[in-house]
Amino acid sequence: MNINDFRFDGSKKFKIKDFDTNQDGKFKDRAEAEDLREDHIMDLQSLQDRLYAEGKEGVLIIFQAMDAAGKDGAVKYVMSGVNPAGITVHNFKVPSSEELAHDYLWRAMKAAPQRGMITIFNRSYYEDVLVVKVHDLHKKVALPERVLTKDIFEDRYEQIKNYEKHLHQNGFRVIKIFLNISKDEQKKQFLQRIDDPAKNWKFSEGDVVERGYWDQYMEAYEDAINATSTQDCPWYVIPSDKKWFARAVIAEIIVSTLESIDPKFPEVSEAQKQKLAEIRDLLINEK
Ligand code: AMP
Ligand code: MG
Repeated sequence: MNINDFRFDGSKKFKIKDFDTNQDGKFKDRAEAEDLREDHIMDLQSLQDRLYAEGKEGVLIIFQAMDAAGKDGAVKYVMSGVNPAGITVHNFKVPSSEELAHDYLWRAMKAAPQRGMITIFNRSYYEDVLVVKVHDLHKKVALPERVLTKDIFEDRYEQIKNYEKHLHQNGFRVIKIFLNISKDEQKKQFLQRIDDPAKNWKFSEGDVVERGYWDQYMEAYEDAINATSTQDCPWYVIPSDKKWFARAVIAEIIVSTLESIDPKFPEVSEAQKQKLAEIRDLLINEK
């Protein structure tokens, strides 16, 4: 598996129609992918320790997808491998009245990672060029006429690109992950949520309403991804009909990003070493 196959950095166009959502890489079977994931989780742990100790770079991981594509499962999976002190998750829901009274990036900025931390956005400000675009929700909030032009989403793509560039230039990595499932796979997942009582809570009637807008969503995803993929802040479009495959790819993307940061434990100076030796002696000789 080569994660570059799924990477969009502006050098090639993303065409959602040409993208096979049901890939499984070159894995023999699911077990082989799971073994690789286990290895990655080990790497992730030690890289995260160093990221945290160094406290220089922060990492923002954004998950976007249609309902039932596996966002929650992917978040849970990433969390399973890391020290909880070094990671936060933020879920973006329908904006509150306080959030709507600000610009759409405000709530995301408040939740952005600190140095040394990994922050996961389960949905993000991309909702403001996805669900908002599909349903014209921007027309329902108090925006001045001069903002409500036909170019409002082009303007937002630019704002988002600028914000992500700003993060990158200030020492934060931004990884954007689109879990891409087929409409058929979503149907299967919805049926499971309906048929399995333990999964009923995950299903809401609204999800089926949104499914009715599938084509509009796909167009919105394609446009947003093409407009905001950059070398520094790429999108990864992950075939997600097979969740075990998607997770193996996600693990590899995160590990390779952390490896490119190459965080190091802070160096101890000679003076500090001397001091530590003195304290050690004191402890040993304590009465
Ligand atoms: P869930 O992720 O299933 O808990 O659902 C969260 C819901 O909030 C989804 O239907 C999103 O489309 C919706 N949502 C998130 N951000 C926004 C936004 N900026 N405007 C409108 N709806 C949003
Ligand atoms: Mg949902």
